[in-house]
Amino acid sequence: MQIRKEREIRMNETSEKIELEDLGYSDFFEDCRKANPDISLIPARIVAEHKGSYVLRNEKYEFSAKVTGKMMFTASARRDYPAVGDWVLVSFPDDNNAAVHEILPRRSVLKRKSLTKPDAQIIASNIDVAFIVQSPDRDFSLNRMERYFSIAESGNIKPVIVLNKTDLISREQLESIRNDMSDRFPRASIFRTSVATREGIEELSGFIRKGHTYCFVGSSGVGKSSLINTFLGKDIIKTGEISIQRNRGRHMTTHRQLFVLKNGGLVIDNPGMREIGLIDAGAGIENVFEDISAFSKNCQFSDCTHIHEPGCAVLLAVREGNLDGKRYANFLKLIRENKHHSMSMLEMREKDRRFGRMVKQFKKHKKKQERIR
Ligand code: GDP
Ligand code: ZN
Repeated sequence: MQIRKEREIRMNETSEKIELEDLGYSDFFEDCRKANPDISLIPARIVAEHKGSYVLRNEKYEFSAKVTGKMMFTASARRDYPAVGDWVLVSFPDDNNAAVHEILPRRSVLKRKSLTKPDAQIIASNIDVAFIVQSPDRDFSLNRMERYFSIAESGNIKPVIVLNKTDLISREQLESIRNDMSDRFPRASIFRTSVATREGIEELSGFIRKGHTYCFVGSSGVGKSSLINTFLGKDIIKTGEISIQRNRGRHMTTHRQLFVLKNGGLVIDNPGMREIGLIDAGAGIENVFEDISAFSKNCQFSDCTHIHEPGCAVLLAVREGNLDGKRYANFLKLIRENKHHSMSMLEMREKDRRFGRMVKQFKKHKKKQERIR
């Protein structure tokens, strides 16, 4: 019976055989698996997610699955649902279906933080290293990098800097940018790469380890897809501005989001990851400048912007030398950079309100009809 099930599922799949460890499985997850009394459940990793259905991968198969009714019933937040990168325990209730019973504890999470929605959305999990990609031709910004650092570190992911497109600048410019970076992030590794000339590609590839999981974050156009394709050895991820737009839509979503690289490293790339830098940076600001937000608790007004208000504890701290002026200047710059993104967040909220009104009207209308009947 078991054999038949497996054959049926395999029939839909074309994956090559791989060890669980090569997919990132470890003693940690194995111990967690053993803690579940149901020993018939098998571990598998989520390699894609799309509107509540999942694609999973284990040693032999790639298969789709849904979460069990019990799991849905006990879920109280988005984080209770599987995310790409999760290790889960599954069963095969019948020949054509697989069911996710449990998410094994996450070792790390990439979260999109939001001030408006307290339940942070998990974009991906169990990532070892986040490559923060910057390129000198794009709006290069140390502040933005700091934001990515904060997102990675708060999720227990190690941030590593990749300065890509080194072919576009002189050696002197490259050295100066590198120095700025290591001043600001003294503990971080910095790789310099060019997909165009392949400079630094071997070094970065050598850093990527078999069975470890990576992601590439950074503004659109810095070369994330190009780098991933280089390490995949084939063009799976679409590059260029136009396809990036498409990736945000429905095209990318049904695609696989966890990839095995040529050298055995694992990469997660999904639409949510592409959007990290864009949305909800407001929350990031508070995180990056924790000292500022600590001072801000003593501001006279709860909605103080710390720019001009009377009774602002942040401004006072700067004046009295308790807060580094340079840090405060960075804070202001981040806020300016973030302004148009918060605008679109306002627009989103406005949309929500309109939708809410529509629902209300619909309910009213329905009630009226019921009364008439
Ligand atoms: P993404 O939005 O971060 O995924 O960026 P893409 O990988 O789509 O790259 C955006 C553009 O930059 C494409 O036209 C790439 O060919 C180009 N590009 C990527 N890496 C390099 C590089 O190292 N040097 C140069 N000159 N161009 C690059
Ligand atoms: Zn203030």
